[in-house]
This record gives sequence, C-alpha cells and structure tokens, in this order.
Amino acid sequence: MQKLTAAFILSLSLLTVTSAFLSSLPNVTSNEISLDFPESATYRVTVTSDADITSVVLEYGNEQQTCGEVIAKAFPQFTPGKTVEAEWTWEMRQSGSLPPGAQLWWRWRVTDANGNETVTETKTAIWLDDIHDWQTLNNGDSQGVRLHWYEGDQTFATDLAKAAYDGLLFNETQSGLEAETPIDIYIYANTDDLQEAILYEPSWTGGQAFPDQDIVILGVSTSELDWGSKTIVHELTHVLVGHLTFSCLGDVPTWLNEGLAVYSEGGLDEASQQQLEDAIQNDTLLTVRSLSGGFSEVADKAYLSYSQSYSVTKFLIETYGQAKMTSLLIALRDGLTIDEALIQTYGFNIDGLEDAWRGAIGAQPRPVPAQPTAQPTPTFVPTIVPVSGVPLSVQATPNAIPTSSFVSQPTATPVPNRPPIGLTLILLALCCVFLLLIGVIVVGVFVRSQNRKGGNNG
Ligand SMILES: [Zn+2]
Repeated sequence: MQKLTAAFILSLSLLTVTSAFLSSLPNVTSNEISLDFPESATYRVTVTSDADITSVVLEYGNEQQTCGEVIAKAFPQFTPGKTVEAEWTWEMRQSGSLPPGAQLWWRWRVTDANGNETVTETKTAIWLDDIHDWQTLNNGDSQGVRLHWYEGDQTFATDLAKAAYDGLLFNETQSGLEAETPIDIYIYANTDDLQEAILYEPSWTGGQAFPDQDIVILGVSTSELDWGSKTIVHELTHVLVGHLTFSCLGDVPTWLNEGLAVYSEGGLDEASQQQLEDAIQNDTLLTVRSLSGGFSEVADKAYLSYSQSYSVTKFLIETYGQAKMTSLLIALRDGLTIDEALIQTYGFNIDGLEDAWRGAIGAQPRPVPAQPTAQPTPTFVPTIVPVSGVPLSVQATPNAIPTSSFVSQPTATPVPNRPPIGLTLILLALCCVFLLLIGVIVVGVFVRSQNRKGGNNG
C-alpha cells in the first residue's frame, strides 16, 4: 500500500515536472514564404507567448539526395517580447542557386523565457518563377516523367514527353538504368528564358540535369523539337546515372557519364562521326584516362571528347552486355576507382579498356607514356556556405552537367556534415542536468514516503 502511495506521488511529481514543460507553448499565428525567383526566398513568422520569446530559429533546406542528415539553421534578428515577428531571406546568389522546380522545406523553432519550445509543422514550397504560365503533362507517375512547359501547344509537349518516355525505356533495356522516382522536366521556351531562371550557368547552357533533385531543365523553342527530343534524353540519362551511382564514396568518370548520355540520345550526328573517324585515321585520339576528369575548353577537343566517350561506352555495352554495365556503375557507387571497377567487371583496367577499344575500332595502339599518368579526378563544385548558421554543405550543389560542354564538367560531391562538437557537449551536459533534477525529485519523494512509513510504524 505504501509502495503504491509512493508510486502515485512519484507519478504526480513527474506529471507536474512534465506539465511545467508543456504549459502554454508559444503560438505561431502566421508562417509564410515569399519567393523572389531566382534571387531569394523570404520566410516570415509571427509568434505569441505568455512569456517573452527568447529564441526564433529557422530550419530550412530543399529535398535532395544527401550523404548525411543536414539541417541548415538561420537565426533571424528580432525584438524580444510576448509577440514577435521575424523574417529571414535565403539569398541564392550567396548560397548557390537551386534548379527551377526544387522543393523547399522549412520549419520554425521558437522558445520563450520559461523554456517552452514550439516547433512548427514542416512546410514546403516549389522553387519556380511565376512569370510563366506553367502547365504540366502528367500521364501518371508510372510513366517516370512529369513534363512542365508554358509555350507551344499540347502536341509540342506530348512529342517531348514521348521522347522522354522512349529515352527512359531505352536506358532501362540497353544500359540497365531505371528511373526510381518521377523526374520533373521543365521546358523553357528558349535559351534566354532558361538563362533568366538560373544563376551562374555559362551562357551557352541549353539544358542541365540535377540528379540529386530529379530535375531536368531545357530551353527548347517550338522549332527545335528534334534537338529538344535528343537533349531531353541526354539529360534524363545523367539523372539516371546520378541516381544509380549516388553515394558519398565514388565518382563516375566523365567519359562514362557523357558516353551513356550520348549513347541513349541515339549516337553521333554526321559531323561528330566524321570528326571521330578523322581522329582515328590521323591517330589523334585522346587517351581514355584523360577523359575521366573535365573535358577540354577547346571546342574541337570538347566535341571529340564527347564522341570518343560515346564510342568507348558503346564498345563496352555492345561487346560485353548491359548487365556488366550495371555492375560497373554499381562498383563505382560502392567506392571502387574506375580502374578497380573495370578490373572487377571486365578484367582490364582503363589502359586495357583503351587497348581493346582501339583494336575494335581499328585505331593505332595506345601511345605508352614514359611515366605512368595520374588519374585525373572529376572537378568538384565548391561547398556552399549559408549566410548564417550551420554550414549548408550538402545544400545547393547541383550536379551540373551542361549539354554542350566547353568547360570542365563539375561533379558534385556532397560533404557529410556534423554538428560542432562544442554544441553536442553542451546539449549532453544540459541533458545530464535535467536527468539529475528528475532523479533528485524522485529520490526526495521516495525518502519522504519512507520517512512517513518509519513514523507510522513507530
Ligand atoms: Zn552531358
């Protein structure tokens, strides 16, 4: 009976402790976002509470594949009081821009002087301009793509979507690349419109893939349906490759990524085919190893880089089969270098591949360098740092794979991010103090009940 009483008092005390923490949480009365595309997104919140509000923190980001869980935080300035309005602006020029169609998410964490904390539900918004009258062609998610466009009739959109479906099917059957989630394709009416929607991209960018966000953007006028149909497939392939090989460990060499994209487009046009044949005749082929990093900035060399990448990739797929191509990509995902991945899959390294490929296309043997050449690494996109708060390292690092590349092709490598050790220790210490406090209360209650028990017996 006494034990029961003690337990009852104990639970009462715990209830009191808990309810002190639950009482009168700060109340969020408005919580909005306004977009100034493509420059900035502004988050606004209004909160009231019984006690002065002492902390207002915005947690935000965008949906994308990341290596680690990262929450960016912003600490807007505000005047403490029982009613507080706070706002914070995400400046895309400072953080690196997001692709049109990216999904933003955010929530507010508000604390008052009593230590009561409210965390709002996570809200989302689509990062897209409102100057164009966007329409969506959606034949169901099972089709693998959603096409968004604003100029040109339904037939134009349907034709582009058809090219996209065919491209997905080709990739699935010929290269073993499958779409896991629907890919959003945004068709701008021309390159100028596309340029206005993205910051920083080179002026020749006609299309771009963002594998981490399942987004492809293209500038296609209604008179460029043929080019658009090919380019859509090219960029979709980059998304598929990015998905299959996503990890924090490995990189896909540029020749393989671009080779797969050109292969799925349907191969080389006449001029590129001729250029490749000339290079074979004149023994001016580039080494495959040199195509693992960024492509040349010299136009002729850049074109040849694409053509050769295509030729090498085609050789691998058509000689050894689609299943082995999938194995190669998975080995790269798992962190093997391209040499290791090739040896594991085909039994030869990159030089062995080049020898076999040169033999198959009737080229001269590979020039053997006096010194072994180092493996060029893909170019990295710089890590993005937000205006305030925790470094936003995984944020907004688009896997930029422009269509007609005359500059090196960046491959984003997200960096895992952890909270600072100092903060972790402080939180740990606070936890301990809190547990200790509960412990003291529990022991106090127990001792008191034991004392009473002793008194009764005496
Ligand atoms: Zn490409």
